[in-house]
Amino acid sequence: MDIAGRNVAVITGAAKGIGRAIALRLSEDGFDVVINYRNGSASLEELIKEIEGKGRKAAAVQGDVSVFTEAKNIMKQAIDIFGRIDVLVNNAGITRDGLLLRMKEDDFDKVIEVNLKGTFNCIRHVSPVMLKQRSGKIINISSVVGITGNAGQVNYSAAKAGIIGITKSTARELASRGINVNAVAPGFIDTDMTKNLSEKVKENALHNIPLKRFGTVYDVANAVSFLASSNSDYITGQIINIDGGMVM
Ligand code: NAP
Repeated sequence: MDIAGRNVAVITGAAKGIGRAIALRLSEDGFDVVINYRNGSASLEELIKEIEGKGRKAAAVQGDVSVFTEAKNIMKQAIDIFGRIDVLVNNAGITRDGLLLRMKEDDFDKVIEVNLKGTFNCIRHVSPVMLKQRSGKIINISSVVGITGNAGQVNYSAAKAGIIGITKSTARELASRGINVNAVAPGFIDTDMTKNLSEKVKENALHNIPLKRFGTVYDVANAVSFLASSNSDYITGQIINIDGGMVM
């Protein structure tokens, strides 16, 4: 992958799951990485060692992306440590599923706060840095349910649809300064987020996937790697589905 000397990436919620795979993949591409985490996990130190073993630098930065000032601090720390930010991957996300009629106000608010406002907060605070550099890549993790909707996910699908809106508006605002803003929309990816879904839900999902398998974290990381590289320099404001053909 050609990253043309622009080699610092910040990945939110990167201690596990898709974020972790993205951090590893970008380090293989030559990026030094800032691994944002909220609660952390036992494997965080192991992840840092693995990245350092590839000859890249890694820094773990704690912070809740849903809090405006904490998002600001994540970007400040990244600059203090590495001096620049070339790629921001807005990956942090949560679900609190439930049917509309039973959904608690707090379940709606929390999912919007982390997924949607968290994405805004991080973009808001990385933009001045990238504008000054006159370059940057912002990659947001949406979801196919932000396009299709999903019963039981009014909160999550609203947040992920909102991320598509943020992606397109920000792409328009920042394009003239050499900043690309794109999103990926994963379908059903095998992580902690999906592991507790019932067998019936999983069977139904599989039935609707033409490629007849669930996605892996590496499927998502591969697309993010492309969007983080100069190979995607003429692409902005786009949403790439990574879903085995589920939505087309
Ligand atoms: P995951 O394994 O549950 O990981 C989510 C990560 O986000 C965790 O590391 C978590 O950290 C972090 N996080 C949550 N709230 C945070 C906050 N307020 N501030 C900072 N970090 C926070 O989920 P995943 O499947 O890897 O999901 C990653 C992204 O892909 C999410 O945006 C998700 O919506 C999206 N996605 C996933 C799928 C799928 O099928 N898995 C499909 C479409 C889209 P803590 O554990 O410390 O809270």
